[in-house]
Amino acid sequence: MNTQATILITGGAGFIGRHVAEHFVLNYPNYHCIILDNLTYSGNLHNLASIEQRPNFTFMQADINNFETVQHIIQDYHIQGVIHLAAETHVDNSIHSPIPFVQTNVLGTTNLLEACRNYLEKHPTPNFKYLQISTDEVFGSINTPLFFDEQSAYQPRSPYSASKASADHLVMAYRHTYKFPAMISYATNNYGPYQYPEKLIPNTIAHALAKKPIPIYGNGQQVRDWIAVPDHVNAIERIFHHGMIGETYAVSAHHEYANLEIVSKICLYMEKKLGYPENTLTNLITHVEDRPGHDFRYALNSSKIEQALHWQPVFAFDDYLIYTINWYLTHPEWLQQ
Ligand code: NAD
Repeated sequence: MNTQATILITGGAGFIGRHVAEHFVLNYPNYHCIILDNLTYSGNLHNLASIEQRPNFTFMQADINNFETVQHIIQDYHIQGVIHLAAETHVDNSIHSPIPFVQTNVLGTTNLLEACRNYLEKHPTPNFKYLQISTDEVFGSINTPLFFDEQSAYQPRSPYSASKASADHLVMAYRHTYKFPAMISYATNNYGPYQYPEKLIPNTIAHALAKKPIPIYGNGQQVRDWIAVPDHVNAIERIFHHGMIGETYAVSAHHEYANLEIVSKICLYMEKKLGYPENTLTNLITHVEDRPGHDFRYALNSSKIEQALHWQPVFAFDDYLIYTINWYLTHPEWLQQ
């Protein structure tokens, strides 16, 4: 990637996107970073306050479904690289209302691919690259002790994961059909500051702080593989700069925990931190009816990115969980959304 490049980060006002945007704006002052986001309920311009005054930062409020606008942005700014994060992301919402997931994740991604392809046809850009941010959920559920990797077959099982899988198939079809310079990364569950409070960790902290019943789906034994958001951001940077066009990369920190373990850890830490008597918060854990079709376990083998791109996660799970809880405790307004 040319050191003077202009890059497009979609979904940059959301949870992972704002960390990606901050990382590239602060660490690559010679990149001009265009952050594109239509500010749905999970996107927030305040998330970008730490970088909004930087000269290499531009925010564009736009919908990836709007072909004309996306095409203009790519042409007007001579985009040389795209990191595509914009998506509808909450599995529960996808169960209640799948169509927005198809619209944004499938059609929106296709619009973006098509706008890039049109641009490249008119303005061949030798080092252009496109990174699709996908998820471990496209592979479906897997039993211990097995792991999915880049060779695993797609087996999405929720409308969310099916829409992400469809988007990935379109990216791969563009690669195959048009030699479109794309890569895909699959990451596990991210956690950290600025995550919308609908997701497990901030949702648990919000309920614990309000001393309200802390909901947990079913028996809480569903296993997720967790990664600290800065570890994921570093993986995205590695793939964007050093990944091979046409390749896919699984990104995991190998921190597998059952949902009930995570919720219990949060309650225990908050009881100590807030000086509450033992079990004050733990006793609030309330099992609620399970999510339909709830996948039992997600887990990825990330040896390919570790060996080929020398990426390693650096954050210990408990350390970054404590950092995350403390961040939410000092930003209670975030949990009121
Ligand atoms: P998020 O919901 O916090 O952020 C999504 C962002 O996309 C929001 O800012 C939203 O406004 C924007 N957006 C939604 N629809 C848009 C549209 N039509 N046009 C423009 N912008 C739009 O999600 P997140 O957790 O930050 O996830 C970001 C990406 O990473 C997603 O593609 C998701 O599938 C992927 N991912 C997330 C995780 C995770 O654990 N959070 C794990 C693996 C992969």
